[in-house]
Amino acid sequence: MAVLLLNASLQPLNVISHRRLIVLLSKERVAFLDEAAELAAAQALACRRLPEGVVIVRLLRTIHVPRRLLRPNRRNLLLRDDHTCQYCGHVGSAAELTVDHVLPVSRGGAADKWENVVIACKRCNWRKANHAPEEVGLHLRRKPGPLTQEYAHIIFLRYPELKEAYDKLLATAA
Ligand SMILES: [Zn+2]
Repeated sequence: MAVLLLNASLQPLNVISHRRLIVLLSKERVAFLDEAAELAAAQALACRRLPEGVVIVRLLRTIHVPRRLLRPNRRNLLLRDDHTCQYCGHVGSAAELTVDHVLPVSRGGAADKWENVVIACKRCNWRKANHAPEEVGLHLRRKPGPLTQEYAHIIFLRYPELKEAYDKLLATAA
């Protein structure tokens, strides 16, 4: 189960491993948000078990977070393009979808620029092959650009159970 790390201001920062959690706890850099959660985690860790369910901790001191530059990797592209083929609109599972270079790399297209990579279904990717889209009658449904959402938004898309726990936390804190 994931551990959500919050800034002292309660802004979500990242998802961390249990190992990292233990290090941060031992250095007294983080705290649990309520006593019940702290007690449950302490008991679990004392028995060399991992706490069950979602764990949320916050840093004791606020850190300044520079704007993150997300990489256009497969996972982020699936999020940006909503698991939707950018040519025909087919919505599929990750296994059904591929990453397509709009202008093929073999023809000078950038391999790792947000503007040149889109999610495509296997059928469209096969049809496109080593062509530019317009050469084979394919058209992008929207202009590809960088994923601009807040990093917290990305975390919550990947871990819906964390969003639920975080929302609940904010509701009780208010
Ligand atoms: Zn398609």
